[in-house]
Amino acid sequence: MRRLLAAFSLTLIPFFLYAWPKLTFENYFNDHTMRIDYFHTGNATEEIFTIDQIYTYGIWAGNPHHSLDQFNNGKYYVHIIDVASNQLIYSRGYNTYFAEYQTTRPAIEGRKKTYHESVLIPEPKAPFLFVIEVRDKQNVLRPKFIRKIDPGDWHIIREQPGARAQIITVLKNGPAHSKVDIVFLSEGYTQDEFKLFKKDLKERADLFFSVEPYRSNRNRFNLYGVFRPSQQSGVDEPGKQVYRNTILNASYNALGLSRYLLTEDNRSVRDMAGQVPYDAIFIMVNSKRYGGGGIYNQYAVFTAHSPATELVFVHEFGHSFAGLADEYYNSEVAYTDFYPKGVEPTEPNITALLDPHRLKWVNEVNPGKAVPTYWNKNEYDKLSVHRQSLRRRLHRLQLSGDSLKVQNQLKTDMAELEKKLKTFIADHPLKNKVGFFEGAGYSSHGLYRPQLNCMMFSNREKKFCAVCRSAIQRMIYFYSR
Ligand SMILES: [Zn+2]
Repeated sequence: MRRLLAAFSLTLIPFFLYAWPKLTFENYFNDHTMRIDYFHTGNATEEIFTIDQIYTYGIWAGNPHHSLDQFNNGKYYVHIIDVASNQLIYSRGYNTYFAEYQTTRPAIEGRKKTYHESVLIPEPKAPFLFVIEVRDKQNVLRPKFIRKIDPGDWHIIREQPGARAQIITVLKNGPAHSKVDIVFLSEGYTQDEFKLFKKDLKERADLFFSVEPYRSNRNRFNLYGVFRPSQQSGVDEPGKQVYRNTILNASYNALGLSRYLLTEDNRSVRDMAGQVPYDAIFIMVNSKRYGGGGIYNQYAVFTAHSPATELVFVHEFGHSFAGLADEYYNSEVAYTDFYPKGVEPTEPNITALLDPHRLKWVNEVNPGKAVPTYWNKNEYDKLSVHRQSLRRRLHRLQLSGDSLKVQNQLKTDMAELEKKLKTFIADHPLKNKVGFFEGAGYSSHGLYRPQLNCMMFSNREKKFCAVCRSAIQRMIYFYSR
């Protein structure tokens, strides 16, 4: 059998060498960043792409050893195919604001909306096909947009887009090619608040590296702050009719959710981030209010002065950097179509357990554990549903400004319930075990998370579950070795 295999291989090797020359970075790419900007228009069922501008500038921040994506995550994929050899030379998965818009009521009712998006690739040396693939309902990638691009085309703008900014190097461990390069962008800081930005930046960097696996990988990161002043301090809060003229146009009430804070001004974000070589973007918003958001391979947004939730930004970065899913769920909602039934989600940290013989995090599961894991969910849900109903009542009273006394009582009762939930997790016999715990990805049933608690589940502990830690570690290595 072995001899047969050897003979088989020998005949095939020359063919493979011919058809698939080794994908060395230098053969296909110049060490520059190419930014392809496009418009993404549509509603829940339709989407079209049109190219806006293409820029070539600076150096390439990514890892030349990993031009091809290894994660099979994200609703979208960019594929770069060398025309001469018909070889795939670059790929990357990502998510978009548009994809989230598609799940909202206006989109389902047919209203079209346009988003500006960018894909960053190393600059190819020769003509290539720029392909955007989109997952269908079964999560199978299908090409939706193909355009042949000649890197020598004079329409490509060979300049650094955007005005100059002040750059603060917080941590520099080595060249961009072999490090994870993170950039923090200022949003809602005026010129007078430059010092505050620097202070916030330092604090956030320290907090970031206090969480594993970032702590033990500190030497694999470069970290920059890029400052541009906003005309006004703060950020838009449309739900309160508060509007501020800020540099990146971030806003609460994204997709109608009061705590969801994102920006649709992709061009300004990319112009500002591009002042340094970057793999990942943080948008640091000068606000006290709780809020944030994170989109895989786009950016994470957080507020700098929300003390009760100082680690929300690490949670949001879990989405934007490692493509992690939310592990929390609303105990009252039995199902949701964010993750369609019967389809395995692409994120590494939640599973629909559709095939008991192919478990997603089988290597991390503690032996002898039943699948799925019994964790006395009913007890947890009872407390959690109760707390949610109190929160809704409190929210209604806060909006009307009524009954301060009742509001205070509700706050006390909620704190009491939160204490019980904390104890439930802290004293749970399976606290440190990895298994398949039902309740994840906004769904109380049918989706499972790896551990009882995780930073993608709640902000009760400053700790990712084992599966999320591994996923983040893989991403750190992808950029740095
Ligand atoms: Zn997790």
